[in-house]
Amino acid sequence: MLNVSHLTKKYGRTVACKDVSFHLAPGTVTVLLGPNGAGKSTLMKSVIGFLRYEGDITVGGYPNKTVEARRLLGYIPEMPSLYPNLTVSEHMEFIARAYRLSGYQPRKEELFRRFELTDKQKKFGDELSKGMQQKLNICLGLLPGPKVLLLDEPMIGLDPHAIKELKLLLEEMRAAGCTMLVSTHIIDSVDMLWDKTLIMDRGAIRADVTREALEKDGRTLEQLFFDVTEGAGGQDGAPQEGHTA
Ligand code: ADP
Repeated sequence: MLNVSHLTKKYGRTVACKDVSFHLAPGTVTVLLGPNGAGKSTLMKSVIGFLRYEGDITVGGYPNKTVEARRLLGYIPEMPSLYPNLTVSEHMEFIARAYRLSGYQPRKEELFRRFELTDKQKKFGDELSKGMQQKLNICLGLLPGPKVLLLDEPMIGLDPHAIKELKLLLEEMRAAGCTMLVSTHIIDSVDMLWDKTLIMDRGAIRADVTREALEKDGRTLEQLFFDVTEGAGGQDGAPQEGHTA
């Protein structure tokens, strides 16, 4: 459903993504792990089409910058960028218009209810706490019902209720066939959710491993992470763990 092939992104002399290739199957949750500066956000911004890069990225078979791919793709950025002069409700209207959504009111209300924003609908962007901003950010990303969803550090700043709700939603979306890539540097935050992990370090994918393969191997996600980023596998040029499907 999402195919990244030989992606390289440089910022001047910094190589943020180095020949990155992987494939995500429909109806799966992949957790993208890596220390700060590993290249996770750059990878996500490349997939969503915000950056120029070398390599090929397709979504549902369409090149990622085409209208067809954009219809399938959703992105929840790490930093919410809200409009100070729009209310919570108006932010959702804005997305609905941008995506030409019809009949979105029930979904909007459901998202507000689940993320406890129903009584905040008239508040302006700059009146919201950090946590509320992040909740609205998530609602905005989910409103169009994307088939491929990228979430950049989505749990940061959320309260326990919102974290529980987000995890439930991700499970529901997976059951409905949505493909998700969730980046985080907090391993515990994804515990039971994931089907596959991509571990990135210094711009490269160091492991591409399914949950099944890791369980057979008898290692935890945390053990794999440290083996790959701090063990022999963490050295430049070391072979990648697992295989790119
Ligand atoms: P992560 O999301 O894993 O923390 P990033 O993708 O943000 O990593 O960063 C990867 C590398 O690219 C880092 O060395 C970072 O300093 C660099 N980088 C990220 N964004 C820019 C930018 N806009 N200009 C220059 N360097 C950048």
